[in-house]
Amino acid sequence: MRIAVVGGGIGGLCLAHGLRKAGVDVAVYERDLSRTDRLQGYRVHINPDGAAALRECLPAANWRRFEESAGTSENGFGFLTEQLRPLLVLDPDEEKHYSASRITLRQVLLDGLDVRFGKRFERYEQNGDITLHFEDGTTAGCDVLVGADGIRSRVRAQYLPHAGTEDVGITAVAGKLFLDEHDWIPESLLIRANSIIPTSSCGMFLVAHDGLGHTDDDGVLFDNVRPYLMWAYAAKNLDLSDGLQSEVLRRIATWSPDLRRVVGESHPETVSQWHIRSSKPIERWRPTNVTLLGDAVHAMTPMRGIGANIALKDAQLLSRYISEGGDVIARYEAEMYEYGFAAVRDSLRAARQFAEGSPVARTLFRTVLRTAAAVPALKRAMF
Ligand SMILES: Cc1cc2nc3c(=O)[nH]c(=O)nc-3n(C[C@H](O)[C@H](O)[C@H](O)COP(=O)(O)OP(=O)(O)OC[C@H]3O[C@@H](n4cnc5c(N)ncnc54)[C@H](O)[C@@H]3O)c2cc1C
Repeated sequence: MRIAVVGGGIGGLCLAHGLRKAGVDVAVYERDLSRTDRLQGYRVHINPDGAAALRECLPAANWRRFEESAGTSENGFGFLTEQLRPLLVLDPDEEKHYSASRITLRQVLLDGLDVRFGKRFERYEQNGDITLHFEDGTTAGCDVLVGADGIRSRVRAQYLPHAGTEDVGITAVAGKLFLDEHDWIPESLLIRANSIIPTSSCGMFLVAHDGLGHTDDDGVLFDNVRPYLMWAYAAKNLDLSDGLQSEVLRRIATWSPDLRRVVGESHPETVSQWHIRSSKPIERWRPTNVTLLGDAVHAMTPMRGIGANIALKDAQLLSRYISEGGDVIARYEAEMYEYGFAAVRDSLRAARQFAEGSPVARTLFRTVLRTAAAVPALKRAMF
């Protein structure tokens, strides 16, 4: 069976490794022109499920490089007021979580794979087997097509034209504060990930990243190895016409001076914005020899930090089922549809909780968090 994977992102590359390990003939087609095309991005949180998928699919050497290069997030999770007073601190998970640089993770995933770069997928023809058409005029054949081409997937647009994503009306602005330039940052912001819960309708997430860069087989070092504090502010109706940082600073004018410094002193070139999108719910579809994984099928808001982990889980499941044989796509899609769209709903709820809600609802939520902090049994039941 010849498998074509369109999209060499987190999910597509993990799948390709899993299939290669199982001895399956797999080709990855990626629109980027080379492996160093995209050397930017923030850290990505890899949870125990995502790590298990990587461990199962990657060759041992790639897994080792992942473990060596990623930082760990082992100090639990904090909920703080906008004045940095603790509401609730969750204990660390017993299983290991990782903080991976997106750039490094991609390099680790690319190692050992012969990805066909510069292949921007255009459309496919399905006549028993499948012919892929690329924008450069070339074609390729396969028996099974996996669309792993991310949130604006062209494979999904052709295969499930009624599916897609919608703008949830929330905008996020994120940036990096390099830690080797700043020694004044409160320890509570450095030792664990934190969510700021103000009484107004907005939220901020902060987490420090200290992972290492990645040196490839030729000794080339990728990634900026400087540790940083990443922050992301999200709200509805942001007016970014006067600049991203200035709008966030205007919105957080009454917050802790340290939080305002974090935003104000971040290098402008590290600051970017997203209009948050989420997949629309769809009915199950009939399985064929075209399928989808990751953001191509179930794109979710970043508010739970699980999109990449679910893409990795898809890759793990699909490569496992393909190597076992049988009614592969039907089995994969039956499971993926359930957990994938449950995660979409969950992330959307988290996004609304993070960036919306009346002052009354948010004050109530802060009271619940404070109560849980004081009553261990309640804390255990809630989290
Ligand atoms: C700000 C932010 C923070 C996030 N943080 C986290 C986090 O901490 N943890 C987490 O689990 N998730 C996080 N996510 C979500 C996560 O980034 C995505 O869910 C994940 O990248 C999806 O992986 P994927 O392989 O499906 O798609 P992608 O990683 O987007 O890969 C798609 C690939 O397809 C290629 N492609 C696209 N179109 C074509 C085409 N026509 N032809 C050929 N190739 C094509 C692209 O170049 C890309 O390489 C975050 C998202 C955002 C926006």
